[in-house]
Amino acid sequence: MRHYLLLMSTIFLTISAVAGSVAADDAPEKSRVLMLTESRGFEHGPVKRKEGELAVAEVAMTQLGQKTGLFEVDCTQNSEADFTKENLQRYDIVMFYTQSSGALPIADEDRDYFINEWMKQKGHGYIGFHSASDTFRTNDPKLNEEFRWYWDFVGGTFNGHPWNSKTTVTITVHDPDHPTMKPFGKQLVIKDEIYQYRNWQPEKVRVLMSLDMTQCEPKRPYHVPVAWVKEWGDGKLYYNNLGHNAETWTNPAFLESVVAAVEWIQGSVEADATPNPELSAEEEAKAKAAAPDYVEPPKKEQSNANKKANRKRASAKKKKTDSPK
Ligand SMILES: [Zn+2]
Repeated sequence: MRHYLLLMSTIFLTISAVAGSVAADDAPEKSRVLMLTESRGFEHGPVKRKEGELAVAEVAMTQLGQKTGLFEVDCTQNSEADFTKENLQRYDIVMFYTQSSGALPIADEDRDYFINEWMKQKGHGYIGFHSASDTFRTNDPKLNEEFRWYWDFVGGTFNGHPWNSKTTVTITVHDPDHPTMKPFGKQLVIKDEIYQYRNWQPEKVRVLMSLDMTQCEPKRPYHVPVAWVKEWGDGKLYYNNLGHNAETWTNPAFLESVVAAVEWIQGSVEADATPNPELSAEEEAKAKAAAPDYVEPPKKEQSNANKKANRKRASAKKKKTDSPK
């Protein structure tokens, strides 16, 4: 019986493929995308909804899906209500342009389902933009361990942005033949805010572009990755740090790169996601040579005793709000 069913479905597939080639209706099924743009701390301009209208980044992704016919986007800023096991089953891809100093209100069972089951399925994927790495962020080492599931998955955690939104940076595209990188060519010069990372694990990601430290100001003696991919079971992850500035969301190369990422997740386009830690090591060496005299600010050189004393002093003071990311 099982054999019969398989055989029947093969015949059916063959017939529909032939029929499709004539009727041109064999386009792959559209992916359903859930785009989360929740901010808990600092809200970026491109995710700010005005008068109930969708935000710039939400409009950009919705229109990109319509224009290409590849995907349909539902937008939410409420992870508590919408990032649930039940709701995730309606989607193929999740996009994050989130920000949370601390956790997003995602229940443990929904998190476990997402990371251990949903994300590992063929045709499923995660696309992270800009401050998605400034999510589940904490300076508390204990809490940082609790958030490991997120940064271990995404690739790293936001750790400041010496290159702010008014800085024009030069970015090296390491693999211009990679489908998601083709739109950028070999080098990208762009005005956008660039993050540096902690919790960064080069052995787990394939870095696709990085700051060219020889051409950027200020210079720092370490590798600053800008975009990367990785596989997660049969699912796929694409991360791009760009997107702080609204202009990036109309940048054709940026949008084409997202299209390629969707096609890769869907399986219609092949792309290499082999981790390339050797590239991170090379970029690290280049950056060191470009900024040999850079000294970390005193804050990072504090002894543990000093840190404790500072924490005590800080907690006695009124809490400051986060500076814009
Ligand atoms: Zn930003």
